[in-house]
Amino acid sequence: MTGSAERPAGVGRYGRFGGRYVPETLMEALIRLDGAFTRAMEDPAFRQDLTGLLTHYAGRPTPLTFCPNLSKRLALRVYLKREDLLHGGAHKLNNTLGQALLARSMGKGRIIAETGAGQHGVATAIAGARLGLPVEVYMGEVDIRRQALNVSRMELLGARVIPVASGTRTLKDAVNEALRDWVERVEDTFYLLGSIVGPHPYPLMVRTFQSVIGEEARRQILEREGRLPDTILACVGGGSNAIGIFHRFLADDVRLIGVEAGGEGLETGMHGASLCAGSPGVLHGALSYLLQDENGQVSDTHSIAAGLDYPGVGPELAHLRESGRMEAVSVTDRAAREAFSLLARTEGIVPAMESAHAIARLVEMAGELDRESVVVVNLSGRGDKDVEAPVGPV
Ligand SMILES: *Cc1c(COP(=O)(O)O)cnc(C)c1O
Repeated sequence: MTGSAERPAGVGRYGRFGGRYVPETLMEALIRLDGAFTRAMEDPAFRQDLTGLLTHYAGRPTPLTFCPNLSKRLALRVYLKREDLLHGGAHKLNNTLGQALLARSMGKGRIIAETGAGQHGVATAIAGARLGLPVEVYMGEVDIRRQALNVSRMELLGARVIPVASGTRTLKDAVNEALRDWVERVEDTFYLLGSIVGPHPYPLMVRTFQSVIGEEARRQILEREGRLPDTILACVGGGSNAIGIFHRFLADDVRLIGVEAGGEGLETGMHGASLCAGSPGVLHGALSYLLQDENGQVSDTHSIAAGLDYPGVGPELAHLRESGRMEAVSVTDRAAREAFSLLARTEGIVPAMESAHAIARLVEMAGELDRESVVVVNLSGRGDKDVEAPVGPV
């Protein structure tokens, strides 16, 4: 889906980024989806259904946890927003429940999704099972082999996993196959995208469903500290957990830091840092930053955290970075591994390796922050899936 003809600016733009770079056959489906989404969000019954699911099924609000031991060590006041405690073990369910509910309200008979590490596939399978909609998940053959446990989980939840044998047989090829499927069966099929990427209205829709994180965090920190935080950190793969916590704070005087996968180091080319080391281009239907070579060929990425192993990033984050509202930084696999065991040992919380990137950056920058600064880190998921990864020294 790279390299389609450029369309006029306007709808779904974040500065110069975003838009809809898709084949004509999908244009109408996106316009219809946009309309259905707008109507749903204005419909009190839809909002009530979604709030009910988030509260009584998924476990919202998630806690905002003060970390006494880490705070002491870093001479800061550190809080974690606990998306690791959401049903399924990560923030992803906020989005899949929202979109699955929308699919049902649109009368769609089937949901398709793509997955790399399998986590979005699992979250989609959970939502599909709860709402009684069949789910089919496209997944690269290489990823199916690497993520056998999540393949079993999806199948246990009643989803069908469709192997993708094209290209590098990983996530970006799975997205291409899912888009191809959608073009063919657009009438009865809902394509449930996993991050703030893709053509409009996906980045807006996913942000809307994930913004509950920041809504809660803002209320919770005001209750606890009587003021807003000085700094908020979140890891960035596609960017959905980051925009989810950042969005409600955009108009505030709060420093926002997105932490990308530095992998083996930016100089090695083995990383997933699209904002820090990429350039503007079109991938999967939107103009944003991506990792590409001089011919516009999408680069291979690497990260110890499967959820950050993606060559693109949401257009809204590209804009927030370019306009200076959000800082983008990267941390290496090694630093993330160290932060992973640091949080486990100091606070008794095993973070997802993705979330450990945000903790790692906090540790690196703690000395530059004012003493007793209030910092919130979005703990996007839990780390059970990562305990086999080699543990670093503390
Ligand atoms: C998928 C995932 C991510 C990365 O996705 P974003 O859209 O950038 O949030 C981060 N953390 C966890 C735990 C994930 O499962």
